[in-house]
Amino acid sequence: MKYPKTKEMKRQLFILSFASLACVILALYFASRGTTVVYTHLFYIPIILAGLWYKKKAVYLALLLGAAHIFMTLFFIYPIPADILMETLERATMFVVVAYALGFVSEKWDKGEEKLKETKDYLDNVIKSSADAIVVVDMEGIVRSWNKAADDYMGYTADEVIGTSNKIFFADQEEAERIMEIVHRDGELKNYRTTVLNKDRKPVLISMSAALLRDKNGVPIGTVRVSRDVTEEEELKEKIKDERDNLNLILESMDEGVYIVSKGYKVEFMNRVLIDAFGDHVGSVCYKVFHNREKPCPQCKNTEVMRGKSLRWEWHSHRKNKTYDLFETPLRNINGSTSKLTIFRDISVRKRMEVELREAEERYRVIFERALTALCVLEQSGRISLANQEFALLSGYTRKEIVGKKWSDFIEATDRDRVQNYYEERREGGAPACCPFKFVNRAGEIRHVNAGIAPIPGDNKCIASLLDITELKMKESELRETCEKLTELDIMKRDFLNVAYHEMRSPLAPIVGYASLLERCELTDTGRKYLYNIEQSAMVLDKMINRMLQLATIDGRKTDLNLKEFPLAEVVQEVTKSFEPVAKKKKQVISAVVPGVEIQADREKTVAIFSNLISNAIKYADEGARIDISVEDRGKDICVCIADTGIGIPKDHLAKIFERFYMVDTSLTRKSGSLGLGLSIVKEYVKLHGGIVWATSEVGKGSKFFFIMPKRQ
Ligand code: ADP
Repeated sequence: MKYPKTKEMKRQLFILSFASLACVILALYFASRGTTVVYTHLFYIPIILAGLWYKKKAVYLALLLGAAHIFMTLFFIYPIPADILMETLERATMFVVVAYALGFVSEKWDKGEEKLKETKDYLDNVIKSSADAIVVVDMEGIVRSWNKAADDYMGYTADEVIGTSNKIFFADQEEAERIMEIVHRDGELKNYRTTVLNKDRKPVLISMSAALLRDKNGVPIGTVRVSRDVTEEEELKEKIKDERDNLNLILESMDEGVYIVSKGYKVEFMNRVLIDAFGDHVGSVCYKVFHNREKPCPQCKNTEVMRGKSLRWEWHSHRKNKTYDLFETPLRNINGSTSKLTIFRDISVRKRMEVELREAEERYRVIFERALTALCVLEQSGRISLANQEFALLSGYTRKEIVGKKWSDFIEATDRDRVQNYYEERREGGAPACCPFKFVNRAGEIRHVNAGIAPIPGDNKCIASLLDITELKMKESELRETCEKLTELDIMKRDFLNVAYHEMRSPLAPIVGYASLLERCELTDTGRKYLYNIEQSAMVLDKMINRMLQLATIDGRKTDLNLKEFPLAEVVQEVTKSFEPVAKKKKQVISAVVPGVEIQADREKTVAIFSNLISNAIKYADEGARIDISVEDRGKDICVCIADTGIGIPKDHLAKIFERFYMVDTSLTRKSGSLGLGLSIVKEYVKLHGGIVWATSEVGKGSKFFFIMPKRQ
């Protein structure tokens, strides 16, 4: 290392050169006078000085002076005796040895001092540049050392405070003594919080660590105090604490489960959701609390998070068959340590729904693809974005070609506006479900379709389904033609029957007339019997033709109701009276309970209704049976019941007895010459009045015929 030549060095060089020269001159002088013993001691002066100043380099000077001594001795003493030569050589060697030994010792000494100096400088620098205030106070409490950092927060300079009592820094005078006492007793003081007063006499909160200073004999000589202004730190801590409290409040109010664990897996916080689910386990290890394990879980992300990573991951618990969404992030604590904050949410329902949604989508895709109707998805612009195979078949285009085509391109020009209006209305959720129109396919052929359009919920799209009804349309028109023909035929039939019934009636009148004339003539018993048979047959034929005509009139819709207001009891009495002789013959009793109710109806048809039902009751009952007629006035209508204790009707026939020509095949029906038309006339007449008729019956016990008719038409 090259040092710059200082004044001191120059002075040393001069002294050394001067001393060496003086020695050489003296040696020369004494040697010339023959003295060789004393003067050589002078040589040690420059050698010692060189050893002290230039360390081992003094050897060069010793060599030079030794050489000069040998040369001068040889020069002046010639021939030189052997003992003097030896002595001279010894002396020169001694010069070199002394120079080396002195240089060596001096070098060592200097190195030690240098180190000491370096250490002292280093310590001074540390003290000076320390961010912490370092103050040395002696046993009397007098400040002995004061660094720059102490200036900064106390406002005093070293000159102002060194030599003064440290008591000036404390508001509480006893505090200075208390600190001294603790340090003296314990030998040290660590992170002691106290308040000192700065130069402006303003309190400053500091954290102080102190140690006892002892002299080399171990006697205490003072204390060294390292302190720091912790006002800001305290404020920061307070702030962090507030923020932590706020965070805890937020975490408490969250619907998700939240917990905080330390690096050592200790639960530091659990929010309400978790406490409700697992109980309060703050202080226990998380793997025990949440997973009932003795060791940390293999999937645990504690290490990664503690390294500063925030993670979001999903975890499926096979034990509970639940899936959780976890967010984990490191959390700095006030004391500088790190904890892990975990927020987890049970997403099992969402996951299940996702699977169900996927399945549902797949199901709908299959339905869409395999549907037997043509389906397509319409965009808001009216363009087709998706079509199924059936649509492709209907249109004659490939599915790829269909995508992007305008839906209106498939509608025949005359139908376009109507269908477009329907489409717009359906988009708004209105209009009927279906709209038939003419569909134009690729070849320009017209197909009749029935379209249904429905908006897709949550989307601006619609789904259109088209049912090809071309065949149906053709069948429908065929059917309509057939129907028209049949109606024509029916009218012709009814007209023919009407004429036929009337024509059949014409010869009947002379038959009955001549038969009554014949009654007055003298006839044999056989002749009278034949006449009776003719009259009976004519009566049956007349009855039959009358009923046929009644039904023909109803069918021809020619029946008008001749409405009149009359007491119902009057009609019931009239009809029962007319049947009394027949009933008497069979020893049957007819009773009627009718309230005094007036109804507005066709009197003739009401008579026909009662007549048919009472005549049936008499007809289909054996001797001694009871026939009970009852009428209930129900306010707006009347409910009539005609009950008999006759043969009854089997259940499987009950529903059909009101059909035309339907008869239950019994001996009584065969005997009575029934036609199976009476109940159908009753049904039609009740219907004409806006009423209904039905029957209940039990074979062998009797039947009940009910009808309801409104009191006013
Ligand atoms: P008809 O009496 O002229 O045969 P209806 O239409 O009046 O024709 O009756 C149809 C059938 O209903 C009858 O053939 C009979 O078998 C059955 N029937 C009607 N009324 C009664 C009744 N009160 N008791 C038993 N059977 C009855």
